[in-house]
Amino acid sequence: MVITDKDRRIIRNWRASDIIAPVGESTFQSSRDGAILVMCGDCDRSGHMIDTIQDFQPRLHLKAYNGGPLRLNPKVPIPDNLRCEKQLLQGLVGSQRLKNLSGIILLSHWPCGMAGAINYDVRQTLWNTLETADLLCQQLSLGQSLISTLFHVDDNSEMSLFEIKRVTQEEVFNSWR
Ligand SMILES: [Zn+2]
Repeated sequence: MVITDKDRRIIRNWRASDIIAPVGESTFQSSRDGAILVMCGDCDRSGHMIDTIQDFQPRLHLKAYNGGPLRLNPKVPIPDNLRCEKQLLQGLVGSQRLKNLSGIILLSHWPCGMAGAINYDVRQTLWNTLETADLLCQQLSLGQSLISTLFHVDDNSEMSLFEIKRVTQEEVFNSWR
């Protein structure tokens, strides 16, 4: 999958309207003691994702699977043979207890092969990150501040990592002109 001009326009507009912003110290403030990082295992991008986060949060417990946060939300149309959101969630809770980790980082990325396989566009992929964060808050009885939502962009090997702000679905889907 490659990034399109329309994707670029959407991402530029998200930046301009502060829906996404480059990650910084404040992005990881609530997970000082370490965090579980839910991400896609993409071999061409995972190095950049992890390196960038580790500048701020060195203690990362990796949960890397194709599609990352797309795999935790039962609403996402993952093929039946790959569907295992309950098991992934149990694994997440187990690691949280075992390693005494309070924070969770949900990292989505674009372009993502799994998103392409299920015909998700860039807006659906970003929105799912926020929706999955809400889902985890409810299911794990966590405060919203313990979950960081991130978005990684690979534009022809120029890579950036953003924090997704808590915005509404309308803001995510309407800001592309
Ligand atoms: Zn991916």
